[in-house]
Amino acid sequence: MTNSTPASGRKPLIGLTLEELRAVAAECGLPAFAAGQMARWLYEKRATEIGQMTDLSKRGRERLEQSYRVGRETPKAAARSTDGTVKYLFDGAGGRDVEAVFIPDRDRATLCVSSQAGCRMGCRFCMTGRQGFHGQLPASAIINQVLSVDDSDQLTNLVFMGMGEPMDNLPEVMKAIQILTAPWGMAWSPKRITVSSIGKLQELRTLIEQTKVHVAISIHSPYSAERESLMPVERAYPIVRVIELLRDYDFAHQRRLSFEYIVWRGLNDDRRHADALGRLLRGLDCRVNLIRYHSLPDSELHTAPEGTMTAFRDRLNELGITATIRASRGEDIQAACGMLAGEARK
Ligand code: SF4
Repeated sequence: MTNSTPASGRKPLIGLTLEELRAVAAECGLPAFAAGQMARWLYEKRATEIGQMTDLSKRGRERLEQSYRVGRETPKAAARSTDGTVKYLFDGAGGRDVEAVFIPDRDRATLCVSSQAGCRMGCRFCMTGRQGFHGQLPASAIINQVLSVDDSDQLTNLVFMGMGEPMDNLPEVMKAIQILTAPWGMAWSPKRITVSSIGKLQELRTLIEQTKVHVAISIHSPYSAERESLMPVERAYPIVRVIELLRDYDFAHQRRLSFEYIVWRGLNDDRRHADALGRLLRGLDCRVNLIRYHSLPDSELHTAPEGTMTAFRDRLNELGITATIRASRGEDIQAACGMLAGEARK
């Protein structure tokens, strides 16, 4: 689908909440109920042009078109993996591109979306982190990823695990979640959405209290000094404080808490780490996703052997913590965890 309307300074309608659409209706001299009609065209019928909104008056559409456009932007490139994973490249903020990754898996079809162009968290193992920060994605750019990938109609799940730290762009991420889950929006169940975070404390609390989405925390080491060497944000947001905060909430019903743990050879893959992780998470209703690492150029980090990962998983399971090894997807198109760089592949 293409939005052939030239941008020409007109503002996008996608990414606006019902309340904001009411303000647009008032501004353009449309009746208040036109906001609900616009929301239906944008999020349910997936219109790409204001001209398609045929239950708005012709005059109303013309007035709307003077200042607004739908705002759908097709991906500028797509790379397909042999395993069915597709990596899409979109215009991002600050002149940098961002990526969304479509991951089909039996009866599930997940889209991994980006929330920022680049990232300022600086995780040592992450290609996005190496780029630095280039700008926040507005809700329109987040929702556009969901609506404009070729496989949009098939999507069953959404994960905020692409480029950027979602809690570092909380207002726009919250707006996108509202549009995704509201009855006037895309009416997704929040149980189909997972937001990943390094654990920015105040923002994480807001996310948990104001939404019902699943939460995933990047942990990667149970030891503070070691985590800090991998993730400098440990200094500002120590994992023990993140876990303390999580203990305030109920993750046994309706929503899920998971911890993401990349397993590196000789670094965090032994029984000592598994036991320390078990102690740290004791009593929390959670699961641990063990992730294979994909070496970056010049990186001294390497993925742990298969047997080591299995032993690590089994040890956590013995300690009463559900742990699974996440299947690696899209390696051949550099779409796997930590590999998103916002670059078109020829
Ligand atoms: S792993 Fe996530 S939080 Fe860390 S630098 Fe990469 S995108 Fe940012």
